[in-house]
Amino acid sequence: MRSAAERVVREDRVRRAGAAPSIGQRLTEAISALENAGVPEARLNAELLLADLLGTDRGGLLVRRREPLKPALAERYEVMLRRRAGREPLQHILGAQEFYGLSFRVDRRVLIPRPETEGLVDAALALDLPRRARVVDLGTGSGCLAVALAVERRDLRVAGLDCSPEALEVARHNARRHAVDDRIDFREGRIARPPEEWRGAMDLVVSNPPYVSEQDWNGLEPEVRDHDPREALVAGPTGLEVFEELLPAAFGLLRPDGVFIAEIGCGTESAVGSLAATAGFRAIDVRPDLRGIPRVLVAERGADREART
Ligand code: GLN
Repeated sequence: MRSAAERVVREDRVRRAGAAPSIGQRLTEAISALENAGVPEARLNAELLLADLLGTDRGGLLVRRREPLKPALAERYEVMLRRRAGREPLQHILGAQEFYGLSFRVDRRVLIPRPETEGLVDAALALDLPRRARVVDLGTGSGCLAVALAVERRDLRVAGLDCSPEALEVARHNARRHAVDDRIDFREGRIARPPEEWRGAMDLVVSNPPYVSEQDWNGLEPEVRDHDPREALVAGPTGLEVFEELLPAAFGLLRPDGVFIAEIGCGTESAVGSLAATAGFRAIDVRPDLRGIPRVLVAERGADREART
């Protein structure tokens, strides 16, 4: 016969075995699960997902590591981890990506904004555009460039063009989120055929076009290849095809002293540079991204009278 005291100890042990694991324990398991699935930066991913679920940051996880994880949250965490282990991008699971200090909604409908694309915003803001200058973003996607510019320069008159009506829904949502929707004119249409009334009217054209070659696309990480819209990344076999349309289109939209700023693919600076010259651009410069890769094309249209000599 067991004594009452023995029974209590035993019951306590059973109860504890079935008790919710602590936040710290669950995190440790999650890290190994993601590592086993081959997810890069498993720890960071496991932490960011759990922090989002708990409404805290990574430091907060450390502070709360001994607290039990409530079963309802544990279940939701499990779902998040399963998606991430299946190589769904972290940003799709969180529904957001930061760009130029602003949080953008992202999902399958748009390309996730990349940090190197912030270089286009830097280059645009460095131009010292006149007050109420007109700017258009060709292939706006999530709207990250258009919205960041509209937030940074409240006087600009901004437009965004995209061939995907679904992407435009996301772009409009992001413009509302940052309270610039009344200042951005989003339109559906193809880069090669922008609205007639924009012709010759723009002080600045920006674009992060699909410049990945078909071959490079095949070798991309599953997060990118299987989840970013293919048409936001690839325009043809070499990756240069898009510039053959984009450069003349941008040239046609610009005022005589206007500037075109575009993101370009690694190693394409001389090819894109000569396409820009062929399209009529005068001063052509390519600036490096944070890794030193030539990334941001800055091409000045140049006054017509000089062009016609
Ligand atoms: N640099 C992006 C990538 O990695 C490509 C973006 C683009 O095509 N505009 O995947």
